[in-house]
Amino acid sequence: MAGNTYANMLAVLDSAAAKLGLAEEEYAFLRNPEREVKGTFPVKMDDGHIEMFEGYRIQHSSMRGPCKGGIRFHPDTDEDEVKSLAAWMSFKCAVANIPYGGGKGGITVDPAKLSKAELERLTRAYTKLITPVIGPKTDIPAPDVNTNAQIMGWIVDEYSKLVGEFTPAVVTGKPLALGGSLGRPAATGRGILFNTREIYKRLGKSLAGATVAVQGFGNVGGVAAQLLYKEGCKVVAISYAFGALYCENGLNIDEIIDTGYQMKLNDYNAEGVKHITNEELLALPVDILVPAALENAITEKNVDTINAGIIVEGANGPINNAASKVLDEKGIYIVPDILANSGGVIVSYFEWVQDLQCYFWSEEEVNAKLERQISEAFKAVWDTAHENGVSLRTGAYMVAVSRIVEAAKLRGYIN
Ligand code: GLU
Repeated sequence: MAGNTYANMLAVLDSAAAKLGLAEEEYAFLRNPEREVKGTFPVKMDDGHIEMFEGYRIQHSSMRGPCKGGIRFHPDTDEDEVKSLAAWMSFKCAVANIPYGGGKGGITVDPAKLSKAELERLTRAYTKLITPVIGPKTDIPAPDVNTNAQIMGWIVDEYSKLVGEFTPAVVTGKPLALGGSLGRPAATGRGILFNTREIYKRLGKSLAGATVAVQGFGNVGGVAAQLLYKEGCKVVAISYAFGALYCENGLNIDEIIDTGYQMKLNDYNAEGVKHITNEELLALPVDILVPAALENAITEKNVDTINAGIIVEGANGPINNAASKVLDEKGIYIVPDILANSGGVIVSYFEWVQDLQCYFWSEEEVNAKLERQISEAFKAVWDTAHENGVSLRTGAYMVAVSRIVEAAKLRGYIN
């Protein structure tokens, strides 16, 4: 990844701590992860040869509860990226006010190049590496970029074998048949919808007819686009791996989803639909831009092309600090990642609660609880930002840091 993502995280942390009037020693424990596991392990490939892979599990903070956060399989995944993602999880869980710290895992791999059997062996080998540090009361992984419910199912199985008892609560984002929760697959996208509603309400605007561009059409961007479309927004552009679709009068998102997965979007054609580049999508003059792909989509290099009314960060870290500063100065609201995409981990929390009590809820119940949790988190961030005259990002970090520091004080770690 970009290599300075962690430095970006530290700069935001420092400015939030300064606004809170914290002395260095009161929050220094948040500047570094509590524990990092890094390992290299062999995996037997289908043709019989052995390949070595590198994997990580980084636990940033367990001050408010067990570490929580996804596992990503990506060729660019490295320690700097996983460290940043782990820290963001601590802040995300604190803003959402769920009883967790933060962690993240990853393997440096392009999973598209593996067969299903190779992917399973890779996942099981990685699970062995991290089994000593994960568990339902210590650190609970989940899906992230390029990982899914099936991969969580293999982790449940491998972990359960290693510890000698069936332990579905060790991960979230599982298949329903293994203790997953209704509403979890769509939760991050649904959270984007709820956050967009909240900010539009505060701005006195209506979502009906608002124009939207979504970068990334995976589990986050795809669901967000569909729910915003159902809400009456005009989704004019969505991107896929190699480009983007654009239609001035709005895309038919339901039809596009029916067309199937990303790869087929290369060939998608309908009246008024043009194929544009990812950069062109980001530069569209839309009311709402949702960057929902990877980190650093908007940096000092392209920030001057951004033409959106508001930005809702679907991905983790899609806008770097330099670009955020430019957008803040222009008065463009950014609903920050640690609030905007918290729907996933919030429903992960609900899944874990259901697993621990072995009693499962209806999808309506899950969605209603998610909406309440997000509306409270949004209010805390909005009020803090406006009371202190800071951006929503700094406001979100202020809420998160003050909650984590309070727990650290009560536990006796700091004065
Ligand atoms: N990977 C998701 C995130 O970045 C979800 C994490 C979880 O559910 O634990 O928030």
